[in-house]
Amino acid sequence: MHKDNIDTAMLAEAEAWRSRDLAVLWHPCTQMAEHPDTLPLVPIRRGRGVWLEGVDGRHYLDAVSSWWTNLFGHAEPRIAAAIARQAGELEHVIFAGFSHEPGLMLAEKLLALAPPGLARVFYADNGSAAVEVALKMSFHSFLNRGESRRKKFIALSNGYHGETLGALSMGDIPLYRRIYSPLLLQPLFAPSPDAYEAEPGESAEACALRRADELATIFARHEGEICALILEPLVQCAGGMRMYHPAYLHRAREICDAHGVHLIADEIAVGFGRTGTLFACEQAGITPDFLCLSKGLTGGFLPMSAVLTTAAVYEAFLDESRDRAFLHSHSYTGNPLGCAAALASLAIFETEPVLERNRATAARMAELAAPLREHSQVIDVRQTGMILAVEMAPGDRRGLRAYRHALGEGVLLRPLGDVLYWMPPYCIDEAALQHLAKTTLSAIIEAAR
Ligand code: PMP
Repeated sequence: MHKDNIDTAMLAEAEAWRSRDLAVLWHPCTQMAEHPDTLPLVPIRRGRGVWLEGVDGRHYLDAVSSWWTNLFGHAEPRIAAAIARQAGELEHVIFAGFSHEPGLMLAEKLLALAPPGLARVFYADNGSAAVEVALKMSFHSFLNRGESRRKKFIALSNGYHGETLGALSMGDIPLYRRIYSPLLLQPLFAPSPDAYEAEPGESAEACALRRADELATIFARHEGEICALILEPLVQCAGGMRMYHPAYLHRAREICDAHGVHLIADEIAVGFGRTGTLFACEQAGITPDFLCLSKGLTGGFLPMSAVLTTAAVYEAFLDESRDRAFLHSHSYTGNPLGCAAALASLAIFETEPVLERNRATAARMAELAAPLREHSQVIDVRQTGMILAVEMAPGDRRGLRAYRHALGEGVLLRPLGDVLYWMPPYCIDEAALQHLAKTTLSAIIEAAR
């Protein structure tokens, strides 16, 4: 635990920083008019482990792994050193026509770790870009094979896949989608298998299978028109950490196979151990045609993403014609610093019993969250591995009140609407977990006022 060490000079420095920031910056996912009165802006000087240290000397427990990116703690020394070493050798090189060791080694490693049957790695530089790549590759591979009627995608209700127009099109969260709807692709939305929406008395598995039957009906109605089904395996994160039974993934894979349709698994948020296995798809024993990875890929250090796909998809692009090639490119494709960070992060998985340790941490999270169920304004507490969510009864700006209260107690909890959740870096210790549980309870009480 951290003792805050605040003096007036630090408070003044933080205040000066805030005014300079608000004079020039435009922060993401923020109504800037709410700064500084409703929403405090928190300038951060450094991070260590699960802790962020503010310019004002206050410490904040990063319970959301800074938008689900961080795996092993802030400024993890091995990853930091790997980036520094790489920066001294080769910071970047064009990846078309050129290659480098970290890019090659990372591809080999990812293919060895991913579900069997994936054979190629295409790099991009953030999660949304990975989704764009998968959508375009799927469409284009069918076109190259002469299946030009396949132009549609199926996505799940309450899903989220990013903010660029193609990725946003596949999302179903009105807060992000509604305004831009006139600009977007219009996928077919299949009902989410979300266990929270199960019928009274229906098990999560039965709910998943019922929803899979509905998915099959949509497939049957659009025979030969669909390129791919895109989904977030096991947890719809931005949709409020809604969770579903792996049976859905298993059935979805079968349905896709029966109709010759690709399955795109967006593991951008759930990959790298968050759900208890290295990849969430493992829990259903399936291999997608496209596996999108980002966020934890670099341990949370650098923006980077990877799309893993099959030999069959890859081979559809091999031809003498340039039109048949996948000409998608980002300037920073395969950035060596990102690759070095990812290799260092994966090395931690290899040298330490990360998933085993996480099982113990996840069990402790469950114990500490159990009393939250008793609160009258809590309607659901759910968990998949290292993701634990507390659904509060709907209420006006409850999430914001909880957020502000938790910040005051030194915890960064960033609710999704009325859902508070824990998705901490894996190095969170007992004292920090207890502090998190205590603060979450007081935030719920405060939010319910
Ligand atoms: N897919 C999922 C499932 C995500 O959770 C996110 C980010 N929250 C994205 C895609 C987009 O990633 P990025 O923010 O890096 O563009």
